[in-house]
Amino acid sequence: MINAHRILERIELLATCSKLSKGVTRLSFTKESMDAENLVIDWMQQAGLSVRKDEMNNIIGRYEGRDPDAPVLMIGSHLDSVIDAGKFDGILGVIAAIEVVQALINSKVVSEFPIEVISFCDEEGTRFHTTFLGSKAIAGTLKEEDLQMQDDAGISIASALNDVGIDPTNFRAATRSKKDLLGYLELHIEQGPVLQEKQLPCGIVSGFASASRHILHVEGRAEHAGTVPLTSRKDALVGAAEAILFIEKNAKRNNGLMATVGKLVVEPGASNVIPGFVSFTLDVRDIIESRKLRFLQEVFEKIQEICHDRKLVFQYERILEIPSVMCSKRYVALLEEVFKENDIPALEMISGAGHDAIAMSDITEVGMIFVRCKDGISHHPDEHVSLEDIEMGTRLLLESVLKIVMNEGV
Ligand SMILES: [Zn+2]
Repeated sequence: MINAHRILERIELLATCSKLSKGVTRLSFTKESMDAENLVIDWMQQAGLSVRKDEMNNIIGRYEGRDPDAPVLMIGSHLDSVIDAGKFDGILGVIAAIEVVQALINSKVVSEFPIEVISFCDEEGTRFHTTFLGSKAIAGTLKEEDLQMQDDAGISIASALNDVGIDPTNFRAATRSKKDLLGYLELHIEQGPVLQEKQLPCGIVSGFASASRHILHVEGRAEHAGTVPLTSRKDALVGAAEAILFIEKNAKRNNGLMATVGKLVVEPGASNVIPGFVSFTLDVRDIIESRKLRFLQEVFEKIQEICHDRKLVFQYERILEIPSVMCSKRYVALLEEVFKENDIPALEMISGAGHDAIAMSDITEVGMIFVRCKDGISHHPDEHVSLEDIEMGTRLLLESVLKIVMNEGV
């Protein structure tokens, strides 16, 4: 029923819709993304779906059920990529969803409920520094001011929409009502090493970790590297280093919590000057909100102490806060059943990465299947998923869709 070779061929073809780069680079509202959209529209039509683009450039292919007014089960993922990305992130979910509906049509399965394959516009947020553009528009959580976000060339989302022939003032028309939707299922690569370590082809996402991002500033005094004794220095970088080591140590005490310092700016940044000012980012993710907050409090208190001892000044600011989201318990249970029927241990996983399912959870029940990717590599040209895993993931998606639509929404 599932033609994994066809899925892989399509993934390879979509990878050619890219700016010239080391990997796949397909930002939203570009020639590359329009080429990819046209392929997807073509494949949806070939499968027998009626296809439209909504007011936020999402592509929607609909397979009608017996009752056209019944709520819709949506399945899909996103088409855009980061810079120098792999071929599978997002894409696999869109192409597998087309394959699922193709299989239903080929077997003449008609359910009560319509099924829509969705290819979301701009999940990664690479171009406009914002995420979940298409899925937020559908969920009704996108705000007018979000459309004023600009890319590095100063082009806003609103004018990029205009450029592809979509009136940005209409964006609210893309919003679906809660009663219109039965649920949302997404198939996506894991983007981490857990499934490979456990030797499993697929896993079940039970929730999405909350994420906090802060910028921390440590201020000392920039002085001559050759004349000021070590005992009387106010070295901001040594203070920041001690802080970063504490962040790692404290994170290791909390199994499941992720803490990362990914960017460090040292000023004045000269080899013969004692660092006078350091700012660094702190990204913390955890499914347990209260534990994350406690962790942050401990970190800030400890850094305050470190800075006090070293006569440095410490300040911090929050730049991002995303609450944790749980998948639908009913869908998790249903996916567990499908996994067991296929003799695959049902491993429940917390996603540390963001996905369209998070935005969709604001209006409907969401479920998500992760597919193993080689060595956990993602957002990189070496991203790879085996043909066997593509086949298994798509089969699990198909059987889950069947269970949902045949059981009257479970
Ligand atoms: Zn993705």
